[in-house]
Amino acid sequence: MDDSNLSDAHVLAYWEKQKIFDKLRKRNAGKKPWSFFDGPITANNPMGVHHAWGRTLKDLYQRYHAMQGFDERYQNGFYCQGLWLEVEAEKELGFNSKRDIENYGLEKFSKACRARVEKYSKVQTDQSKLLGQWMDWGHDYFTMSDDNIQAIWYFLKECHHKGWLYKGKRILPWCIRCGTSSSKHEMSDEGYQDIVHASVYVKAKIKGRSNEYLLIWTTTEWTLSSNVAAAVNPHVVYVQAKKDGQIYYIAEALAKKLKGEYIILRKLQGKDLVGLEYESFYPDFEVQKAIQGRVIAWDEVGETDGTGIVHIAPSCGDVDYELGKKFKLKMLDSALDDFGNYNKGFSWLTGKNVMDVKKEIVKDLENRGLLFAVENYRHRYPVCWRCKHELVFRLDSSWFIACDQIRPVMKREAEKVVWYPEHVGKLMQDWLDNMEDWNISRRRYWGLPLMFYECPACNTTSVLGSLKELREKAVDKKIVDSLPELHRPWIDEVKIKCSCGHVVGRIKDVGDCWLDAGIVPFSTLKFFDDKNYWKKWFPAELEIECRTQVRLWFYSQLFMSVVLAGKAPYKRILAYEEVRDEKGKPMHKSTGNAIWFDDAVEKMGADVMRWQYCSQNPQFNLNFGFGPAQEIKRQMLIITNLAKYVKQNCTRMGSKYSDDPASAWLLSRRERLKQVVTEHMDSLEYHLAIDAIKNFLLFDLSKTYVHFVREDLGEGAIQKVLYDSYFDAITLLAPFLPFTTEKINREVYGHESIHLVPWPKVNKALINPELESAVSHVQDILQVGLSAREKANVTVRWPLSKLTVVSADKVVARSVKELEDLLLMQLNVKSIEVVPKVKQGKVTVEINRNALGKDFKQDSVEIAKKLDDKALKQLVDKGSLKMGKFTVGMQHVIVKEELPEGLVGSAFSKGAVYLDTAMDPTLETEGYARELVRRIQQMRKDAGMEKRDSIALHIFSEYSLKEHAKDIQGRVGAKTLTFEKNLFTGGDEFHIKKHVFFVKFERL
Ligand SMILES: [Zn+2]
Ligand SMILES: [Zn+2]
Repeated sequence: MDDSNLSDAHVLAYWEKQKIFDKLRKRNAGKKPWSFFDGPITANNPMGVHHAWGRTLKDLYQRYHAMQGFDERYQNGFYCQGLWLEVEAEKELGFNSKRDIENYGLEKFSKACRARVEKYSKVQTDQSKLLGQWMDWGHDYFTMSDDNIQAIWYFLKECHHKGWLYKGKRILPWCIRCGTSSSKHEMSDEGYQDIVHASVYVKAKIKGRSNEYLLIWTTTEWTLSSNVAAAVNPHVVYVQAKKDGQIYYIAEALAKKLKGEYIILRKLQGKDLVGLEYESFYPDFEVQKAIQGRVIAWDEVGETDGTGIVHIAPSCGDVDYELGKKFKLKMLDSALDDFGNYNKGFSWLTGKNVMDVKKEIVKDLENRGLLFAVENYRHRYPVCWRCKHELVFRLDSSWFIACDQIRPVMKREAEKVVWYPEHVGKLMQDWLDNMEDWNISRRRYWGLPLMFYECPACNTTSVLGSLKELREKAVDKKIVDSLPELHRPWIDEVKIKCSCGHVVGRIKDVGDCWLDAGIVPFSTLKFFDDKNYWKKWFPAELEIECRTQVRLWFYSQLFMSVVLAGKAPYKRILAYEEVRDEKGKPMHKSTGNAIWFDDAVEKMGADVMRWQYCSQNPQFNLNFGFGPAQEIKRQMLIITNLAKYVKQNCTRMGSKYSDDPASAWLLSRRERLKQVVTEHMDSLEYHLAIDAIKNFLLFDLSKTYVHFVREDLGEGAIQKVLYDSYFDAITLLAPFLPFTTEKINREVYGHESIHLVPWPKVNKALINPELESAVSHVQDILQVGLSAREKANVTVRWPLSKLTVVSADKVVARSVKELEDLLLMQLNVKSIEVVPKVKQGKVTVEINRNALGKDFKQDSVEIAKKLDDKALKQLVDKGSLKMGKFTVGMQHVIVKEELPEGLVGSAFSKGAVYLDTAMDPTLETEGYARELVRRIQQMRKDAGMEKRDSIALHIFSEYSLKEHAKDIQGRVGAKTLTFEKNLFTGGDEFHIKKHVFFVKFERL
């Protein structure tokens, strides 16, 4: 590896060939463990740049701890089951519904799902390697594995023992396309969309009154056939209004919904309506036969939407269901089946799909004179988190784990976890406060088979906890022995014998996929066969995932771990936000702003990607893109150029560090850098860590130190400071940018691998806070000194006689004194003086006519006349001046203070800096010498000469530089220097200010 243009691919090949990762693991094996659990990535598609944020951070922390010598597992995980996988497999096969799957055959479908996992886990592995992620590839865990599945069986059996597992009826958010329910934790922000629905106003005829109607409002017309009640707010004012010969009841605030002309007959309280009975919208429907609709009181009925009278269908909505229980209303069965088709008892609707009949329903209401009005209504409405189909709410039975008993324990254990950012811990507590019983069953195929056997004969439910138990209870053990895997349809073939003797089949449901991931701290750590191993690695020191995992993976792990181990499976959590495009917009395939991982890694390179990920504060979204990549590339170029500089200049290193102030300062900065980077990494503020390294490299080292010592780089002791300090900074940078730092190491330092170098230890003895503060003051002074030179148009090559620092700050004075030589050299001045106050220059005072006019109007002219020089002086001395009935203040004048002749200055935070720009012949000659030296150095460079090459130099000019002969020779490596009496041919001609110089040289 001597090529100085190594690509990432070269580095990967080098690591592979030299087995660097293996060597690292071997070196750390058996040492103190540092346990990290990798949250599984869904092996469903190629990975995206949003995945790469988390994967970079995971790699960063594992590398960091490896450099510190910790033993680690490096196990990568793949998410393999559940709706995610099924939906993508369906798409691939061109399917549109569960029926397509059943027609295709479950066996083939399960195989297709498995094949998809196998394909994309390979793709993602290759991509992760390109990102530089070091994992124990090839020993990954898969959530579809038998081990994983059996571990969950064990967990569910434990829950059953505790009496927490039950089958219950619930109103469930339901996707009729996927044919299954969603769990609350699956309904994230993406789970809602703006959807336009018909908003329907229907007339409920009040019983026993002629021509009087409750005006009822709904956006789910399909649920009207399941109506059992109408709710009003008892504390709201309603009106009885007459329109077109009919009488309506509606909330007063919403009476305008009657539109057109109407007369209000009287006002009444909502409670006056309670108890009224009304006629069914569908008196002929079987399901409505036994129902008597009536008005109930509900405080939540609002006055902003609709009519103030809400239609209640307990089998079609969760709030309705609760009201139904409270008022003991009749509970109908769900109107719809799994696929959204009307069940029996709904007359002409039976067998039709809810999505197809919405318009027909409205038409039918209109034909029967029940429709008052219909309009379009746009609202946020829940959609399926996977396929985006709009959800319905339906009453159904599902399997749940009761969580009231475990809730306080989970809360207590979550309190013990360190969450970063801190508010994420609060999110977890909120989630735990609000979590409902865990809905663990799904009506799907490619997922964890729930081993629940309901015996119709004796009404008991057997819950099996292992394959062994299944074999014991199986009617035909041969089927168990020949199971190809623990999935549908094969597992469904196994029947068991109930304790009552009855033969029972498995329920058909599969498990929530968050069970699959939540069990990882047990299934991957030999919980069942090697408790010592499990104890060694459990719980995780750290887990890193995006913030939305709070109610997903972080939650399901916590739940299962509290059940099985009584405590949280992680000690610390680092949660990050979303990856957006560089303008801050969400990336979407459809909007065309998505960046593909493969594109990014090819065009910007892994380290530029990693730099973007690592410098982002995880509390905020990351604006990722090619634009930010440009700026990073520029900074990386400075860092790699520094590598070349170090290599070229550090050729004769000493064994000791130079003790000049600049070097002592850099060493102090370096040790402090090690300290803060380690602290930031340990407090999970990785973004502050990389910032500190960047500042050290780009500012302290590249800009400041290299500048300070460029004249003295020949000294071995200074070379050693530069060489070692750069190496330490690169070592600290290694876990962030593994490729770049390896290239630099191979090119400049030649260690086998930067990743085998131990994490740098802090040498506190080198930290010198006083010196650092002194240098920071001197840096300020330098900066304003240089800008003062710029103002005066005198470049730094022309020496000036004096620099005056005006500051009353004693630390500044001391700093200047301490680092005087540095300032003298850097600013090219002959002396420095620090004074607390500048000697007064000439002060002029002018009248501010605008201010005067504004305050004194027509009198201002007269006042201005009276403000002569004497009056102005009085005013400035006293701060104000009484003139008759007027008082003139400092705001009415403009005071200008001129610097003494020849001084140019600029202010800094602690005072000001003035340069005396007066030239004298001595200074001038030195300036000419410096200017000429610069040009000769350029000539040497142009002639392709190296530092060690000597020359014989000839100069011809009217202007004598004889007194600087030695200095010029030294600086340009001239063995001889002849000031010629006559003009010669050849060579170069330079015009500097008002003189001309002819120069030529011969190489010796
Ligand atoms: Zn769906
Ligand atoms: Zn039984």
